[in-house]
Amino acid sequence: MKISKSITLFSKVLLLVVSTSFTVAMAEDQACVPEGSVKFAFQNFEFQQMDEYGHVAKTYKEDEACDKGILQATIGAIDYIRKVPNKKIPANFQTLVSKEGPTNFLTKRIQTIQFESEDSTDCSEGTIAFVVAEEPIMHVCPRAIKLKAMEIAAFLEHEARHTEGHPHVSCSQGILKDFDALACDNTYKEQGSYGIGLGFLFQVYFSTTNEGVKQQARAAAVQDVLNRFNQLPLGMVKGGVFVDEEDSVSFYDGKEETQFATMADEIATISFINNIPYIFFKNGNITSYDFTRNWNFREGPLVDNYMALSQQDRNDLLDVLSNKDEYCYLTPKRVQCTQEDSDDFAEFAFYDLRPQRFVNVNQSYTGGIVVIAGDGKSYKLPKSTQFGSAKESDLTIDTKSHIYPEVTSYAEMSNGRILGVSPKGLMLEKTKSGKWVRTKEFGDYKFKKILPYKWSKRLEDL
Ligand SMILES: [Zn+2]
Repeated sequence: MKISKSITLFSKVLLLVVSTSFTVAMAEDQACVPEGSVKFAFQNFEFQQMDEYGHVAKTYKEDEACDKGILQATIGAIDYIRKVPNKKIPANFQTLVSKEGPTNFLTKRIQTIQFESEDSTDCSEGTIAFVVAEEPIMHVCPRAIKLKAMEIAAFLEHEARHTEGHPHVSCSQGILKDFDALACDNTYKEQGSYGIGLGFLFQVYFSTTNEGVKQQARAAAVQDVLNRFNQLPLGMVKGGVFVDEEDSVSFYDGKEETQFATMADEIATISFINNIPYIFFKNGNITSYDFTRNWNFREGPLVDNYMALSQQDRNDLLDVLSNKDEYCYLTPKRVQCTQEDSDDFAEFAFYDLRPQRFVNVNQSYTGGIVVIAGDGKSYKLPKSTQFGSAKESDLTIDTKSHIYPEVTSYAEMSNGRILGVSPKGLMLEKTKSGKWVRTKEFGDYKFKKILPYKWSKRLEDL
């Protein structure tokens, strides 16, 4: 039995990205979907509730559609799909979904939608929906109810594609890289289930006239582009994103520099959250580069939390780590992490070590707090809940992390060059002999940080 599952990104982390940037008036706030939409859903699909043994416990009737449960959420998502305009979108963003139309794509492949019970083992960690073998049956897991109509809709299109196979592979890049599940497709071009889900988001993005919905589709598409394909689509180029001493932010691929912005406020540091570069200002503001140069200030828990740091800590800030459910801030003397249900920070102090940055800066879903120090070694810290009983002398050295003690941060370029920022702020390049020398093109310019990054003009132009 072959099961093709869809694993969601960890919703708590993901929702931070989605919910902090846009206020969107969505159909899901309505009491129930319109009557015509209920009729449409029942004309095209049979809806069944499954029991804990995987047997059909009941078949739903139309008058149960507004009972606020998973059935209503699913009908809401089908309604969402039905209302996506069948407008022609740019040729290079067209997929099977846009060619067949999102509604036809779904109804052609799926006849039955089964709601799995809370005890279903197929709905274990992270699974939103799945298809077994190549049956025209969509299995929806209970946790799908937490998603927005657009997200459920994208999963429905995704699962419909699994009726033709298209199994997933492990992620070799992105934030799900070290996550133990098959949560990626090799390429976007092969038009597997993630390609179809993304194609659906493109159709929404290009066809909707509602600006809020448009931006929500764009943000979701950016996350899919960054994290769901082992070969990055849309002409992504490998390089580094850097901040210079004058608070300019740029992308560099080893040959060409693309300047994103020069900030008026002083930048403390740059770090990644969900693969998106976040810029932390000394004055407590935070902005991010979501493949647009609009530079909206972020709002929400992260900002509230960052504001709670002292001014001195923000001035000295070296790095920020988004570690599952918590945020950790690194300064030369300590790591401070948010604690659940508390306004205070959990704190780990450094006395002998000179910390420089966190390893694994939010580009992958591996947990753990690892700090690189000035001695060129990386130190694994305990969980923040155990900071109180931990000592610097007890830290274990993490040998997995690849580090260069000559630079405080570095990135590999698409042409193979490795550039890094020296402790004094100069841009250095690693030579074949392993020696680090000053780059010709940046000369005496000073930099705060460079981080490995992939960038695409096409995605920015979206
Ligand atoms: Zn899938």
